[in-house]
Amino acid sequence: MKEFKAESKRLMELMINSIYTNKEIFLREIISNASDAIDKLHYQSLTDKKMKIKKDDFAINIKIDKDKRMLTISDNGIGMTKEELENNLGTIAKSGSFDFKNTNEKKENIDIIGQFGVGFYSAFMVASKVEVISKAYGSEDAYSWVSSGTIGYTVTKCDKEIYGTDVILTIKDEEEYNRFLDDYEIQNLVKKYSDYITYPIKMALKDDKETKVETINSLVPLWKRNKKDISEEEYNTFYSDKFFDYEKPLNHIHIKAEGTIEYNSLLYIPSKASFDYYSKEYEKGLQLYANGVLVMEKCADLIPDYFSFVKGVVDSSDLSLNISRETLQQNRVLKTIANNIETHIKNELVSMLDERREDYLKFWDAFGLQIKAGIYNSYGFNKDKLQDLLLFYSSKMEKLVTLKEYLANNKDESAIYYACGNSIEQIKTLPQVEAMISKDKDVLLCSNYLDEFVFKVMLKFEDKDFKNICSDNIDIDTEEEKEELKVLNEKDKDLLSLMKGEIDIKEVRFTSKLKNHPVCLSSSGEVSVEMEKVMKAVPNNGEINAEKVLEINYQHPIAKKLEELYEKDQEELKKYTKILYAEARLIEGLPVDNQTEITNLICDIMVK
Ligand code: ADP
Repeated sequence: MKEFKAESKRLMELMINSIYTNKEIFLREIISNASDAIDKLHYQSLTDKKMKIKKDDFAINIKIDKDKRMLTISDNGIGMTKEELENNLGTIAKSGSFDFKNTNEKKENIDIIGQFGVGFYSAFMVASKVEVISKAYGSEDAYSWVSSGTIGYTVTKCDKEIYGTDVILTIKDEEEYNRFLDDYEIQNLVKKYSDYITYPIKMALKDDKETKVETINSLVPLWKRNKKDISEEEYNTFYSDKFFDYEKPLNHIHIKAEGTIEYNSLLYIPSKASFDYYSKEYEKGLQLYANGVLVMEKCADLIPDYFSFVKGVVDSSDLSLNISRETLQQNRVLKTIANNIETHIKNELVSMLDERREDYLKFWDAFGLQIKAGIYNSYGFNKDKLQDLLLFYSSKMEKLVTLKEYLANNKDESAIYYACGNSIEQIKTLPQVEAMISKDKDVLLCSNYLDEFVFKVMLKFEDKDFKNICSDNIDIDTEEEKEELKVLNEKDKDLLSLMKGEIDIKEVRFTSKLKNHPVCLSSSGEVSVEMEKVMKAVPNNGEINAEKVLEINYQHPIAKKLEELYEKDQEELKKYTKILYAEARLIEGLPVDNQTEITNLICDIMVK
């Protein structure tokens, strides 16, 4: 007896103890494996002329033996060698990146099943013993893999006439499992979960008089069927089945293109990002079929990076089986289909945005970052395609809005105002933002690190510039206010220059833009304070610094105090300057490097 690998054992325990209530899915998993195995042999037979296998010979057979409580699913697919039996069934194919230590909670257990589609192991939810007899195509020998769960399995040589695999389940004794030995029930489960399988699933069915072997699935793949004959549930089941996501998709797009290039495609927008979506491990791509034959599991060329979350299948009679060796650049058909699909996805997202905002918000929550990255990574090249899909939080409307909606709501504004920070709540409390809001200005509150970079590469939206209200280039004061400020700054020129000499900063000046706050930090030049923070977080990005300006609210009592100190006690003024600068940095979320000095200075003043 060989032992299962640790994580396989763990998963097996989950299966046997079946926290997952939907036990019937085991049948779908086994049939899907059978279909994959036939796909592989089918594909091989089409590309290797020496092989003499006809498509019509391929089938999946289901047999029930009530007395022995045995349910057998057989296929004449590619089969497995001894090594393959051990490697494929002794470990969990997809579990590599998952840490099973964290799965003690029941809810999380269900999630794993959702995320991975644990496949073969689900057999142990309903079977007390599983035997897999397999003969690899082209091999003389057959082997039997047997396991009764948890501990391990045995592999022994055995006899089997033809290549392919038999999966023999000994159904558990408890009454609740009896239904998996019932012809009618099994037939229904096949219809429910596996109807789209493109090979016949056959079963011996009894009526009053005789037993006949019948094909129980409809054989036409879902994407080739008529849209009007397909129920929402069928679309959703197909999705969860094929893409191992048990959460309902947000949307499906069913394309039946006729004309110069014919193809069928069924695409889905998931409702949330998979656990690995934003990691290097994630592989984008659509399943590619050439006239019903699966030629590629993940054809990356069919989908642009910024729509990499889309899952689905493409089937075209205009593609050759050799397509898997070609690339988008070489293949005109593939290129046309890719362009066409991209347009469909874009249109679908736009209509979701216009007509189903709730769903779009879910989409945005899951994949908005990808859309932003699409604009940023192309240095704005994809801006025209993607900018209408962007959402940002409007301080005035207090919700996520499109840039068009922002403009429509702020017609008289000469620019699109935004401010950046860690969270909407935190940005709202920035002095500059409070001041703008008090002037009834609408500010986009940007809490994602990419937001400002996106604006920078976009340059403009329609004909409006993006303006960071924490940089010094905003111009919302009236002419009188401006004049007043100019006079004031001129008058206190020496005071401000003394203050500047105490801290490492480009400029110190009085401002009228703050409401109740004493100070704020703004930037002048291209690099904003927020961008400095993001770039400093990236290793080896050198010394990128925003040119900072300390702005002091001249309506605040502190302004008077500073003027007084300049006259009476310039040493004290220097201390005040350091403290005010530290305050401004704190508000911006920047580190204060001289903490000890600052806290001591504060105490000095407190005890006075
Ligand atoms: P998955 O199908 O998600 O890869 P499974 O646990 O269902 O994971 O199966 C593991 C592997 O065992 C499959 O990838 C396949 O290589 C092999 N396998 C399972 N069933 C069959 C079968 N009927 N014929 C050939 N190979 C099979």
